[in-house]
Amino acid sequence: MFHNEIPQLRQQAYVNGKWVDALDKSTQSVFNPATGERLGAVPQLGVQQIDDCIEAAEAAFYHWREVPVRERCALLTAWFNSIKAERKRLARILTLEQGKPYAEALGEIDYAASYIQWFAQPALLDIGAALPYGQQPLDMLVTSEPVGVCAAITPWNFPAAMITRKVAPALAAGCTKIVKPAPDTPFTALALAELAAQVGIPAGVLNVVTGDAQVIGERLTQSSRVRKLSFTGSTAVGRSLMAACAPTLKRLSLELGGNAPFIVCADADLDAAVDGAIAAKFRNAGQTCVCANAFYVADSVYDDFAQRLTDRVQQLQLGTGDQPEVTVGPLINRAALHKVEQMVTDAIQHGGEIRCGGKRWRDHGNWYLPTVITEVDASARCVQEEIFGPVAPLVRFIDSSTLLQQLRVQHAGLAAYVFTQNIEQIQRFVRQLEVGMVGINSGLISDAAVPFGGIKASGMGREGGRQGIEEYLETKYIKLNN
Ligand code: ADP
Repeated sequence: MFHNEIPQLRQQAYVNGKWVDALDKSTQSVFNPATGERLGAVPQLGVQQIDDCIEAAEAAFYHWREVPVRERCALLTAWFNSIKAERKRLARILTLEQGKPYAEALGEIDYAASYIQWFAQPALLDIGAALPYGQQPLDMLVTSEPVGVCAAITPWNFPAAMITRKVAPALAAGCTKIVKPAPDTPFTALALAELAAQVGIPAGVLNVVTGDAQVIGERLTQSSRVRKLSFTGSTAVGRSLMAACAPTLKRLSLELGGNAPFIVCADADLDAAVDGAIAAKFRNAGQTCVCANAFYVADSVYDDFAQRLTDRVQQLQLGTGDQPEVTVGPLINRAALHKVEQMVTDAIQHGGEIRCGGKRWRDHGNWYLPTVITEVDASARCVQEEIFGPVAPLVRFIDSSTLLQQLRVQHAGLAAYVFTQNIEQIQRFVRQLEVGMVGINSGLISDAAVPFGGIKASGMGREGGRQGIEEYLETKYIKLNN
């Protein structure tokens, strides 16, 4: 499908409208997770270069915020159009560095573009009021302003969408942005920046820096010029970034790890539940923060659901993303593979029975077979922690009240899925699940128009929807006497 032709990769960082190498020429290699082959390298920028980038983003901010909203949104629309025009090339880059099947990569590019389209609506900035409480009319006004220079630190599981949903609302609001993509997947980010430059988004407004995560993280968090950090990644790193932002009191959006329960009630439509399970668990080889983690299945339908799910999982096609029949790609790296292996071993020690998969596939690349494990005890690691791999553990439950109590103890609070036809059950689950997002009879919940995010250890803030732009705005109150 790729005709053996590797798309050109931008192998420089993008700072203040220029493509740059590290001053000392040091680089960081990027590998194809399906084959282990080296794809290229990006610069490992030095401290001074990061500081210069922050300064440039600040200088650009004072111009950009004066650009009328409709012009800012028109530039975003032009960026959206160019991404759509280049979607196949971008998807190929994405598959090469991330591993997801090409059709899924195309889907991600469209999804990424949809955030730009959504936030390119000037009406989302139609925020403000004349309060009716004053002595005279119009003497108490409320308006909003852009936060300032914003930093984004993004993960490798959605190399395009995690960028656009942080960049588009910031730019629409009048903020400027410094993006640090994941070291595994910088090329998609750089390709997106290239298109932004081509459509005329001014120098310094969008910057992409590459290099050592810790060094870049320190410069971005310590700088008082950076007014906000938006981070998507692990809870551990999110926690340390939050602490690092405390001295400069930055605004924060943190989208951290999830552990989404997938609950199948006794009255569920099992065909729909299996469809939902495949979508929620095996998309991106199980490597999304809203992926279903463990499945809690009512005792009376447990065996039936387990059999149907196993049959479907055995039909999944593992392979390199350029093959059209492939539905599941590799894991991102060796560390991810080892973690999944350890979790499966632990599940077996906790009573788990492998129904399919349960082992590696191929020697080269980071492959793990799509796996179903039944009779897992709820104390197993794969139930308590985020798996981030193509492994579906099935836990039996008897009554939903006890299940809800058990789930309340979990630290994560991102998403949950419930399959049931009973309206009272639905209302109870919706109210009592301590998460930011609930899918009822649905395994796919993301959309640019809705507020995506979690509570508890899954973080704070929302991306997408109207809420997504509020994250980049400050409120200003004006008392106006004549
Ligand atoms: P994952 O385990 O999914 O890779 P991480 O939280 O480690 O999640 O990574 C998400 C993003 O955070 C990546 O861009 C990574 O480079 C970055 N990152 C990791 N550690 C740090 C750090 N100490 N400071 C700043 N960024 C970091």
